[in-house]
Amino acid sequence: MNSSVYVHVPFCARRCDYCSFYSTVSGNELKTAYTHAVMAEAACRASEAQGRTVRSIYFGGGTPSQLPVNDIARILESIFMNFSVHHDAEITLEANPDDVSPAFAAALRSVGINRVSMGVQSFHDEVLASINRRHNASEAVSAVENLYNAGIGNISIDLIYGLPQQNLAIFEADIDKAITLPIRHLSSYALSIEEGTPLFLRKQKGKIREASEETFVKMYSMLCDKLDAAGFLHYEISNFCRPGYESYHNGGYWNGRQYVGLGPGAHSYDGVRTRRSNDCNLQFYNRFWTSSRQTDNGKPYEIEELNTMELYDEKIMTRLRCREGLALEELTYEEQRYLLRTAQPYIQSGDLQNDGKRIRLTRKGIFISDAIMAELMWDSNLIL
Ligand code: SF4
Repeated sequence: MNSSVYVHVPFCARRCDYCSFYSTVSGNELKTAYTHAVMAEAACRASEAQGRTVRSIYFGGGTPSQLPVNDIARILESIFMNFSVHHDAEITLEANPDDVSPAFAAALRSVGINRVSMGVQSFHDEVLASINRRHNASEAVSAVENLYNAGIGNISIDLIYGLPQQNLAIFEADIDKAITLPIRHLSSYALSIEEGTPLFLRKQKGKIREASEETFVKMYSMLCDKLDAAGFLHYEISNFCRPGYESYHNGGYWNGRQYVGLGPGAHSYDGVRTRRSNDCNLQFYNRFWTSSRQTDNGKPYEIEELNTMELYDEKIMTRLRCREGLALEELTYEEQRYLLRTAQPYIQSGDLQNDGKRIRLTRKGIFISDAIMAELMWDSNLIL
């Protein structure tokens, strides 16, 4: 059986205006303490993946490219030492384009990183400045070239649509630019303005306007059409790749595979029904894992057991995001009856497809996927 390891790196050089993820702007001393703590956690928790082969390791953040390469190497060494890692494992690091110099790219390759996911977000300088990103468009292009020249051929970039200052023509130019680059994978997400972010405050003050629903739909539709024409496979609602370059790691989240999450704020899943969420507080995390682990303030994580209904809902929310859809054989007889009954109106309207073995979203259904998934969630009051 397979497993994955996720390492949460909670450092950013500065905060982006739309971001609600946990991260901190801090110096090297804290990064060294963090590295020791992650190594200790890896050694202690490796038994959770005993008997399994780790097929992917993913450094996510935060901004993992803000961690010195030596620290990345030490964390990787401890994972290789404690887990059974496949010789051909997908090892991804999320990076910010302005961190990726030729030397940094070569150093990443030399420590075993074979896939890089970069938060480009846009190739338009004004758009990037409007969300307080550190890089500009030409740095993003250079970063892709530096990785490629260093021998990291599996490059993914992120683009966001619906950003302030970004109209349909600018987003079209973003997609066109992405297609010209030697990337293998592209993720694209609609901007979501979360409460508590600087962007939310600007919206409240009337300084920016959210893109209309119609604009979001046009942008997403254009994204799908252009990437399809360029030979990318649309394998998950927000993810596209060259054939054979689906993200193995993210596939694990969508398919309910086991993974071990290390670092403050990291999540884990046992592949059955138990989730673990590490506490976000970096100091608490470091103290716990670098001390004798006897703290007065309890453990730096919480455990959650999913009940049968929650497991069903989880399958609806994750499997249906993927091109393959949800296999009926994954469900109990009662769940299959429930799904087929609630899905029927959408099958009739052409938003869902049922081939007798799997239920999947059609291209038409993707545009209303949130509404469809909400309707398919388990409702105990619904009598079959
Ligand atoms: S670099 Fe990434 S994690 Fe850090 S603030 Fe920006 S979007 Fe958030």
